[in-house]
Amino acid sequence: AAAPAAQRSVGGTRTADGYPVELLGNVGDAAGAAEVAACEADGIGLFRTELAFRTRTRQPSIEVQARLYSSVLAEVPERKVILRTLDTGTDTTMPPSHGLGERNPALGVRGYRATTNLLEDQLRAIAIAARVQDVDPWVMAPMISTPAEARGFRMIARRYGISRAGVMIEVPAAAVMADAILAECDFVSIGTNDLTQYTMAADRELGAVAELNDPWQPAVLRLVRTVAVAGTAHGKPVGVCGEAAADPLLACVLVGLGVTSLSMSPRALPAVAEAIGESDHGQCQAMAVAALGASSANAARAAARHALATAD
Ligand code: PEP
Ligand code: MG
Repeated sequence: AAAPAAQRSVGGTRTADGYPVELLGNVGDAAGAAEVAACEADGIGLFRTELAFRTRTRQPSIEVQARLYSSVLAEVPERKVILRTLDTGTDTTMPPSHGLGERNPALGVRGYRATTNLLEDQLRAIAIAARVQDVDPWVMAPMISTPAEARGFRMIARRYGISRAGVMIEVPAAAVMADAILAECDFVSIGTNDLTQYTMAADRELGAVAELNDPWQPAVLRLVRTVAVAGTAHGKPVGVCGEAAADPLLACVLVGLGVTSLSMSPRALPAVAEAIGESDHGQCQAMAVAALGASSANAARAAARHALATAD
């Protein structure tokens, strides 16, 4: 039988002129982590820990959690892994740990807002898994809205010996305040799925508003720029882990805006690696400037494509 086609390694990707861009996978379990390992990506940029607990009605024990986190870490030894703490209260996740029946769950007690002692249990389990696998884990909190929340999260993480504590930027207020938030944590990762939903006030699950719910919306791109500029000023990593990173053209724009890592479904990685490898960093910047100057999502797309075609 013919050997399977050799898979192109996406790790260590650089633009054509040598500017490094970390390429990471979004995963929910060890099988996803194995896909990241198979394409030799730089690591995992978003481990959605709640997915593993979706079918449970109660929080699993610290031991069960530690085993699960350990199984994911074991798939990608020596690579960066960012574990996101529980994002409960939304569409796909565990039953909410707070009062049921909120009229507007996307704006309710979800993510970090739902923090109870469950967060401490989870960080303890992550610390145990990291010790077993002998790695230094990165952790990040979802749905952070204020610098005080970022500070609170980092303080709790430090209690468990976790030295790299970051937050997701997926609430517009957090993007606007990125500078102050970055002062309170070690890195940020922009969740464009929710950031787009909240910026455009357009439900990410609702087809009728899909045109608004588009990460090419210049309003979203301007927020990304704000965050990237703050990251550069602080000398701290700024990733994107929403599916916007999986669009090869938009991935180049994000790099041009100053984003340092891109995390996406593993299957999207090869095409994004190729697009970045074919562009110069200056080209990416020209694409970003063109997209930022547009007044609609479609115009931003067209402007970026045009900038790519005409850049020298
Ligand atoms: C996001 O909001 O962009 C994100 C990556 O998180 P999730 O899709 O799990 O809400
Ligand atoms: Mg999100």
